[in-house]
Amino acid sequence: MCYTLGLAERLSMSDSVWQIRRPSSGIPRAAAPNLRGMSRVELGEWLTRELGAPRFRADQVFGWLHLHRVDSFEAMTNLSKRERAALGERASLDRLQVDTVQRARDGTRKLRLRTTDGHAIESVLIPNDERGLTQCISSQVGCALDCRFCATASLGFTRNLDTWEIVEQVTRARELLASEALSEGAEWTPRITNVVYMGMGEPLHNFNQVRRSIEILTDDVGDAIAGRRITVSTSGLVPAIERFAREGLGLEVGLAVSLNATTDPVRDQVMPINQRWSIATLLAAVREVPTSRRRRVTFEYVLLRDVNDTDGDARRLVSLLREFRCHVNVIPFNPHPHAPYQRPSDRRIQDFVAILREAGVQCWLRTPRGDDIQAACGQLAADA
Ligand code: SF4
Repeated sequence: MCYTLGLAERLSMSDSVWQIRRPSSGIPRAAAPNLRGMSRVELGEWLTRELGAPRFRADQVFGWLHLHRVDSFEAMTNLSKRERAALGERASLDRLQVDTVQRARDGTRKLRLRTTDGHAIESVLIPNDERGLTQCISSQVGCALDCRFCATASLGFTRNLDTWEIVEQVTRARELLASEALSEGAEWTPRITNVVYMGMGEPLHNFNQVRRSIEILTDDVGDAIAGRRITVSTSGLVPAIERFAREGLGLEVGLAVSLNATTDPVRDQVMPINQRWSIATLLAAVREVPTSRRRRVTFEYVLLRDVNDTDGDARRLVSLLREFRCHVNVIPFNPHPHAPYQRPSDRRIQDFVAILREAGVQCWLRTPRGDDIQAACGQLAADA
């Protein structure tokens, strides 16, 4: 069931407590825990508690799951028969099923995956400049926010993804790349070098599962993706950004803030979350995120024709971001049937970017990737 709530219902207006209401079912809990969603430390504790297994078993099981990507406990041949049987009784290795894989003209691929309780989520593989791929992954089924330019918003919010469902998107993508390389007779399998939490859902609304999934994806015994190659986006959930800062995630993992307006009245309209946390409040929270020398905060700015694309907007953006070590991703709007906006003209886009660059703002103009299969930024809606 998909719960479509009004924004007032989704956001508690209490000053001390913030929450976005969730369906009472939350994440469906299987009777047996899915070992794919445990960090290596958690796995070690669980194996010791449930099986009395020595700690090194955690490295073995973790490697089977995240390096060798096995489907069954039977395949874990360096475990004893007794341990494999006990795991089969007490743990699960459920998987997401791959519904469809679409390939765009520019090589971008969109995977639609099916959860065990029947929901569709999407994940996108985008070729990057390093001869590898950047994977854009989802963190929720639908989304509770209501960003007006975003197709996912049209789905409403159903539930958070569990940790294993987040990690599994990368596992399934790696399997796809390996099987493609095999069938094409390629000498090597393309690598997923970067992961961005910019798919369906607001990642910081699912903070604990997202954090644990990062722990798993960066583990040397598994996917070993460097933390500095992971970026988490947010629409501006200020208390969660404060938590991100407090817990030091920003030292390694990047934060991308979806800003998209330079005045509160416009942002109120484009991103209703701004009615709860204004631009000034949001930027004050972002200022507290610790950054390393290698890491800058990213601000995303979706350019919408006649809404936020004037020279005045560009100059206000320069002034808002003056104090930040940041870069700005300017993303010309990717049209889709769920939003009332249009992409600005090429001339307008170039002029906007030129003002930022002349003022010394590090700025990238994003070309749409995979827009012919509705895989570009803001277009994911699981074919709603
Ligand atoms: S842009 Fe992100 S936070 Fe906003 S509605 Fe879409 S998925 Fe949710």
